[in-house]
Amino acid sequence: MPTSKFHAMIHSKCPKCHVGNVFEGKVYSLHKQQMNEVCPHCGVKYEVEPGYFYAAMYVSYALSVAQTVTVSIAIAILTRSESPWLYIAGLALTILIFSPFNFRYARLILLHFLTPKISYDPRYELALEAENKNQEASKQ
Ligand SMILES: [Zn+2]
Repeated sequence: MPTSKFHAMIHSKCPKCHVGNVFEGKVYSLHKQQMNEVCPHCGVKYEVEPGYFYAAMYVSYALSVAQTVTVSIAIAILTRSESPWLYIAGLALTILIFSPFNFRYARLILLHFLTPKISYDPRYELALEAENKNQEASKQ
């Protein structure tokens, strides 16, 4: 059964086949985030034109604004403090903690929802399902 665009984006899967991984490894690990140039399953090139991921900065900015506004409101409600240092520290920490997440999901949102050149093709998932069914049938 074909997976939804949102499900594929959350699990950092390829926007075309929803099977191959866009990134190697986890969001939060000690290793540098490694993005595949092409999909390991269907072979689609993620950077559709040179410098394409500069556009992900706008998405990352929107994510950062949403996170910092949410944390600012949470600090205001929870502490009722008017000290600017509390807000500066809280926001700096928020930006630091969410930066690996924003790096990855800004690119994924760009690829899945804002790139008309790469569209979902359910045949890759259906072919994989058929392949798995054949393997199960041959085992019995
Ligand atoms: Zn793919």
